[in-house]
Amino acid sequence: MDLELTKSDRAFREEVRDFLQQAIPDTLQDKVLSGKEITRSDHDLWFKILYEKGWIAPSWPKALGGTGWSLTQRYIFDQELSRTPAPLIMPFSIRMLGPVLLEFGTNEQKERFIPGILDGSTFWCQGFSEPGAGSDLASLRTSAVRDGDDYVVNGQKIWTSYAHWADWMFALVRTSSEGRPQEGISFLLIDMSSPGIEVRPIMTIDGHHHLNEVFFNDVRVPVGNRIGEENKGWACAKFLLGHERTGLTGVAETQNLLQHLRIFAETRQTPYGPLSETPSFKRKLTLLETRLKALEITELQCLAREEQTGHVGPEASILKMVGTKLQQEVSEAAVEAMGEYANAHAPGSQLENANEESIGPGFITKTLTLFFFRRAATIYGGSDEVQRNVIAKHVLGL
Ligand SMILES: Cc1cc2nc3c(=O)[nH]c(=O)nc-3n(C[C@H](O)[C@H](O)[C@H](O)COP(=O)(O)OP(=O)(O)OC[C@H]3O[C@@H](n4cnc5c(N)ncnc54)[C@H](O)[C@@H]3O)c2cc1C
Repeated sequence: MDLELTKSDRAFREEVRDFLQQAIPDTLQDKVLSGKEITRSDHDLWFKILYEKGWIAPSWPKALGGTGWSLTQRYIFDQELSRTPAPLIMPFSIRMLGPVLLEFGTNEQKERFIPGILDGSTFWCQGFSEPGAGSDLASLRTSAVRDGDDYVVNGQKIWTSYAHWADWMFALVRTSSEGRPQEGISFLLIDMSSPGIEVRPIMTIDGHHHLNEVFFNDVRVPVGNRIGEENKGWACAKFLLGHERTGLTGVAETQNLLQHLRIFAETRQTPYGPLSETPSFKRKLTLLETRLKALEITELQCLAREEQTGHVGPEASILKMVGTKLQQEVSEAAVEAMGEYANAHAPGSQLENANEESIGPGFITKTLTLFFFRRAATIYGGSDEVQRNVIAKHVLGL
């Protein structure tokens, strides 16, 4: 694969960069740069801007809202998007549920759900994990029992990111206890405004509210909201998790943080001059950059294979594992570089409506939040140990 950009790719990059820079509203940009908490309306505003430009779902088929870009163009777009001080577009709808619907949904389901996914009017969350069923997802117990044209759902999900924003959840539920645990699971779309659903917050180490517990008490869900056959939801889940894992690599985002760190280190004084000039810091940064470059090339190779075969392979586990490890190490290096500023971190100052001033430059506030949150990166989307098992079995054939 040729990694040099052609003239037209460079022109494309300019076009994307120009658009993103002028499209991001100042208020949103200020919020992101100063590390303030992002609300659903902030997220939706940026989503709408990208949707109206036709750039919200670059990897989708063109006829269904995709951009028709080449692999290189998609890669350039991702890089430029992550450089833009804008809210992160949540992956649940476009990156996770969308491909499942396109692969397994009926025409009626596509017509019903795709428009809201594409224009962002429906916010989705992922209801897979349960207490006692995270890595071992197949042991999930939330039950869905047929009653006429509905399922009646009872049970509990946990660690559900942004369930408090969500209009709908895609969930794995148990529809049979016969045979292997994987064979009794179905994939349901659940309206979060249904009677019997309760969402309770879980606060995370960064001081923010991303996570929730969701309880189901006799929640009625029409059978028509099931994707794929009854008891065959595991196939949808495996397909979705492959997409989730490639989406979690975060190469462009980590490159962006490294670049900010370089700039910050130039202004940070040590007894020996700027931090950026000290040998140990230079060595650390160079090693991180080299490993990130290697990951970037591996990711591009995986994407190229996906484009040819139409499927994400088990290599996605390598990308997820190495990418999240690098995210953690780069944010750790950033915290080290901040020195005493890190001590003064006040997460409360980032909350919506806070009247407390943040301490230090915006880069610091934002990076510390990221540092804390990134502790979870080697857990969500499948823990490191579980990825190693997948690699051992399906990539190395052990
Ligand atoms: C920030 C965050 C956001 C999340 N968002 C969502 C979401 O939106 N929706 C959702 O459904 N879930 C979500 N999750 C849940 C996530 O997918 C699970 O936490 C993850 O799958 C691990 O499951 P667990 O927490 O139950 O840990 P466990 O599965 O109990 O694992 C505990 C420890 O045992 C190890 N372990 C487990 N099995 C094995 C094995 N076979 N071999 C070796 N070691 C093993 C694990 O690596 C881990 O270290 C989120 C989690 C976090 C932290």
